[in-house]
Amino acid sequence: VDACLAIDVGGTKLAAGMVTEAGVLLRDRRVQTPASGDAEVLFAALAALIDDVIGRGPPRSSDGAHGDEVIPVACGVGCGGPMDLGAGTVSPLNIPAWRGFPLVTRVAEHTGLTVTMDNDAKALALGEGWTGAARGCADYIAMVVSTGVGGGIVLGGQIVDGASGNAGHIGHVIVEPDGRRCACGGRGCLEAEASGTAIAARTGRPAAEASQEEVVRAGTLVGRAVGSACNLLDIELAVVGGSVALGFGAPFFAAANDELHARARLSFSARARIVPSGLGPAGPLVGAGALAWRHATRAGTRP
Ligand SMILES: [Zn+2]
Repeated sequence: VDACLAIDVGGTKLAAGMVTEAGVLLRDRRVQTPASGDAEVLFAALAALIDDVIGRGPPRSSDGAHGDEVIPVACGVGCGGPMDLGAGTVSPLNIPAWRGFPLVTRVAEHTGLTVTMDNDAKALALGEGWTGAARGCADYIAMVVSTGVGGGIVLGGQIVDGASGNAGHIGHVIVEPDGRRCACGGRGCLEAEASGTAIAARTGRPAAEASQEEVVRAGTLVGRAVGSACNLLDIELAVVGGSVALGFGAPFFAAANDELHARARLSFSARARIVPSGLGPAGPLVGAGALAWRHATRAGTRP
């Protein structure tokens, strides 16, 4: 079976898998992002993960590929922002070891595949529209609330790139004007208040151990940012994934929707709603696969 190699680079974990043309994720693997070390240590960890997924490592019983050989035809990479899409370089806020790192070239050299890269949350937006919670919706935002907070916007069925490919950074919408300093240089950004990193810094405990009060607070702040986005963009759906949001679950989403409905009051935005990712933990990789398949189809290398 033909599949695209899908890679997701995050501040906490590196993930890779194979995504079929129907959007099915096979051979899903993940490792911790090396917390220290230079750019090459980090890339070596990613390269080992890639080798494992594309079959240079032993198959596992959990792979579920019906015994068929999985043949990589292209590669899609989702990575935390910001990035320079033209140059194929990344400088993720949550990965200080990579500044201007030529990720597209390095992955292409390592795999021999054509590599399509985009912001991880833009990739998730494509994946959610393909087989997830935004299927059939032409105007929505998809968000990742995990180590950081990212977003990808789809308007009129098209992903919004912006001037440099970085549109959708809802993690840097201001939700507390006098709030915490953000890694971006600003203050009170959603990411500085409600990301896993921010919650851990505020409470002294991992986000997974957050109190109900913290869960509600994080949901409220996400709802506040989404409310501004809905008013600004005329969108009626926000799909939220990421380990923090999905781990918090129903109380988080209830608080987010309460705040959204309090803040988005225009005739076109009052119907907006926030729902959990339809793809769950598979979302970032399915999204990276969507990047690759979309490129392969457009390039005419697929029927
Ligand atoms: Zn910021």
